[in-house]
Parts: sequence; C-alpha cells; structure tokens
Amino acid sequence: MQPCNHLTMTSDNLSRRDFIRRSGLVGAGIAAAQMLPLRFLRAQDLPDLSNPLAHYPNRDWEKLYRNQYAYDHAFAWVCAPNDTHNCRITAHVRNGVIIRMGEAYDVGNYADLYGNKASWNWGNRHCAKGYTFHRVVYGPYRLKHPIVRRGWKRWADDGFPQLTPELKAKYKFDSRGTDTFERISWGDAFLYIAKGLRAVATRYSGEAGTRLLKEQGYAPEMIEAMEGAGTRAIKMRGGMGLLGVMGKYGMYRLCNSLALLDVHVRGVDHEKAKAGRNWSNYTWHGDQAPGQPWVHGLQNSECDFNDLRFSKLIVMNGKNLVENKITDAHWFIETMERGCKIVVIAPEYGAPSTKCDYWIPVRPSTDAALWLGVTRLMMDNKWYDEAFVKSFTDFPLLIRSDNLKRLRAAEVFPNYKSTLAADGPSMKVQGLTDEQFRRLGCENKGTESDSSRPRRREAGRSGH
Ligand code: SF4
Repeated sequence: MQPCNHLTMTSDNLSRRDFIRRSGLVGAGIAAAQMLPLRFLRAQDLPDLSNPLAHYPNRDWEKLYRNQYAYDHAFAWVCAPNDTHNCRITAHVRNGVIIRMGEAYDVGNYADLYGNKASWNWGNRHCAKGYTFHRVVYGPYRLKHPIVRRGWKRWADDGFPQLTPELKAKYKFDSRGTDTFERISWGDAFLYIAKGLRAVATRYSGEAGTRLLKEQGYAPEMIEAMEGAGTRAIKMRGGMGLLGVMGKYGMYRLCNSLALLDVHVRGVDHEKAKAGRNWSNYTWHGDQAPGQPWVHGLQNSECDFNDLRFSKLIVMNGKNLVENKITDAHWFIETMERGCKIVVIAPEYGAPSTKCDYWIPVRPSTDAALWLGVTRLMMDNKWYDEAFVKSFTDFPLLIRSDNLKRLRAAEVFPNYKSTLAADGPSMKVQGLTDEQFRRLGCENKGTESDSSRPRRREAGRSGH
C-alpha cells in the first residue's frame, strides 16, 4: 500500500499549493473570456466556394477508408452447405488473405456445358453466413490439419482384424464419444483412407466375402448384385442431390474410381472391374421428404424457384421460405408484390405466417389428414387433370373406401408376395419387431382370400 501523504495530490507530485495556484490561473482565463466582445466568438464568414472539398486542406485521410476496400484480386466460389442454396460469391483477396466477400453480378452470363443459362433473377443472393464465411476459414478454432480417432488408427495399424465384440471394445467402436483424436499428416490421412478402402474391398470379395455378407444379414439380391466384388460393399453418398452438383459430387467420382481398386484386389480385367455404389439421399437416409418420390414419381427438384414468380397462389406447408430458404425468400416476396395469395399451414404463428394472407393452424402431425381432405374435395369435384394424374401420380398409399384401411398390394395383385423376409436383415439387424412386421402387412405372404379383396365402392362415394 502507498503511504498516506496529505501533501500529495497526484502521482506527478502536484502539491496542494500548486493545485490552488493553477486553479486560480484557469479561473482568471475563464473570467477574461467572458469579458471578450461577442464578435470574437461569432462564426467566421466562409469564402464563397463552389466546391468546398477542393479547398479542404488535407484529404489524405480519405485514402484510409478507400484502402480498406482495395484488393489484389478476386475469385468466385460457391457456398454449398446443407441448406442447398449454393450461392455464388465473390471473394476479394489482399496479400493472400480474403478480406471480404461480395456479390457476383454475372449470374445471367454463366452457363452449363450445354450452354443453358440461368435467369438473371437468380442473381443477388447470399446471406450473412456466406458473406462472413472467410471468418470461418480463418477462425482460430478451425480444423487446421487432419485428425484420426486413436482407436480406429490402432485397428488400421493392426491390419483391420475382423471385429469381434472384444475387438470392438478394444478399438472403441462400441463407446462412441469416449475416444480421443490424434493429429496426422495429410500424407498419412490419404494413406489410411486408402488402406481402409482396400481392407473393405479385400474382405468382402470372392466366396469368403459372400459368406461374410450372408452372415451379416445382407439380402440375397444385394449379394448377387455385388458379383463377388468387395468394392460393391462400399457405398458413397454425394450430398444434396442435384442441388449439390457443384460442391459434393466428388464423392461419386471417387466411388466410380474404386473400379481401379477392384482390378488390384481381385485381379480382374478392367472390363469386369466393379466400382463402389453411389447412393442418393433417398436411398441413403431418407432425406428430402421420402413421400415426394412415392407420390409424384420424382425427386423434389422438379421446380425451378424462378417459376414461383408466376404463381397466383403459394401454399407453404412443411416449408419455411422466410427463415430456412433465406436467400431464396425473394422469390415469394416478389409474388406478394404481384398480388399472389399466400397460404401457410403450420401449427405456430412463425415468420412465414406473418407474411401470408391465410394462416391455417393445424395440430402437429395432422397435415396429412388435412391434405387427404383436400384430395377428397378435388376428387369429388373433379378438379384434376386426369391425363396428368394418370401419368405422373403413383399414389401408393391408397385407402380403401369400404373399410377405410390402407390398400395392400396383395389385395390387388394375385399371388403377390412381400419381399420383406421374416428372417431378413430388417428383423435380424435393424430390429424390426414382430408387431411392426405384422402391421406392415407382411403376415399376408401372398395368400389372398376373397374377403380381403376391395369391394366395389358405392356410387357417389369416393375413396383414395
Ligand atoms: S444462403 Fe447463405 S449459407 Fe446458404 S448457400 Fe447462400 S450464402 Fe451460403
């Protein structure tokens, strides 16, 4: 602690006497200013300048601001996260570092390999995430090097022994989240990936591989389709279907190139070599509304958002064009300006609901019932294009009008047999229960009784 000194006022040893003397001088100064004639305090007249900036004494400081936007070169890149918007963005680089992102103004100029061009309306996109992506690129917590899970690496170093319950525990395959990661070089990362692919291809090739696949519950049709090539046991998924063409289809190219590995592993001629298998989002994990292709026979990339601009009615159900399609929201906002009616079907009064003409609040998970009611109305009133519906609608989930139960294939097609086997992988591997198996209608293995056949519906009553 500092000793208390009653004479010390500040750290520069200003004494009380000095302080009083200086205060007196300041007070005298203020008093003198008050006695000055007012004309000395009045704003001075400015000379008559047509361009004041030209006479500004020093404008060098403006360069400071201009230089903030100066860059050495720029390049275009595509932001392709899982939101599927694929915005084209311009990155501005100075001294080898991206300093800012900007708009890409050439959207109407670039074309695909066939010369097809996008509408200019696709231009001016991006959200704040894309505009600040360089902060992620240079973020202090970014992953700066390859890492590998230690247990997996030990398994690889031990030559990928076939996993028994004991070995699963040893290499921590059965205790997710408990292992640690280890930094490796890029060269080692490529090597370990290649070793892993080779191990799979080798283990599942030939008769030994076929036997193993059977033991693991693979359906006979799948094993047959592999034709003895272990590379066919490797499945890869590229990403968000057509929307991910630019960013994520590299995985499919890698998968196709695994035919080269098959040549190496099985020693087959390149004509007979088999690559891995490319699975789409639907086949892989049921992403992107599986019901869409069931009903329409198409994946849900069939509509160009540009078409929204010509809509008279937009119904948002299971879609949040405001918050989840950030950069595409302008399509429907433009329709609002053109008098389009917007309907939002959602339990909550969320962001899209605030923009709509009609908000239909439904209880969660009752959308299907609502739409079945709409379908019923359309059918009763014949508000449909019969030729179109016959060509493009599968409608596999039909409800019988006589007993209001789902129509089963076995009730329509004589001798129909379910392909879901009671001892297949769904039961043995994926844990399908007997009750679920029965509810899927699989207890009826093609034995069709007359009583189960749908009856002709009564006149004037519709079913769907
Ligand atoms: S909306 Fe944003 S995050 Fe999504 S692709 Fe565009 S810029 Fe990237």
